[in-house]
Amino acid sequence: VTFAALGLAEPLLRALDAANYENPTPIQHKAIPALLEGRDMMGLAQTGTGKTAAFALPILQRLSAKRHGAGAKGTRALILAPTRELAIQIDESFRTYGAHLNFRIAVVFGGVSQVPQVKALSDGVDILVATPGRLLDLQQQRKVRLDKVEVLVLDEADRMLDMGFSRDVLKIVDETPLERQSLLFSATMPKAIKKLGEEILLNPVHIEV
Ligand code: AMP
Repeated sequence: VTFAALGLAEPLLRALDAANYENPTPIQHKAIPALLEGRDMMGLAQTGTGKTAAFALPILQRLSAKRHGAGAKGTRALILAPTRELAIQIDESFRTYGAHLNFRIAVVFGGVSQVPQVKALSDGVDILVATPGRLLDLQQQRKVRLDKVEVLVLDEADRMLDMGFSRDVLKIVDETPLERQSLLFSATMPKAIKKLGEEILLNPVHIEV
């Protein structure tokens, strides 16, 4: 199976070609068609499986199908990650796969000055990658709007809960519209993750790799 056969559009195929990705990994094969259809997803998946592209590619394609005006400010895709390192990797992946699409992409995380992050957000962003604590802080200062979110991803959700981000994650989810597409990825599936999935996902496709 090729990426084209999964339904991905030309600008994404060109970016994948430039990155020397020849074929989809198993998680990409399972996830991309369902995500392009707009389904919610509960994914049991480890890092290193190609999980980031599995959600980033359909998000980029769905956002590009319906453009917002250049001045529009609300974040359209929000990806929550437990650590700064993972957030930076996800941001880089969106930039790589979205190289031929004109999206404004930003990443925010704690432990550093807010000033450059606030500046990046003030211009408006389409795709925002964030750790929960810093994002909630910025949201409470009204530096970021989450009421236009179309796609929400919780990546490495088990680690976010282990790190004590449970309350922050739920508060952030509450700021996003109900009629969104929601994805939850986790390396393990304890009760707390299943419960979180039941709270935020609607009729999700379950995948496991
Ligand atoms: P991830 O699981 O998202 O952290 O991805 C693990 C690594 O695999 C990253 O370095 C990706 O760039 C790479 N990768 C993801 N999908 C593919 C693919 N289809 N072909 C080749 N490399 C890939």
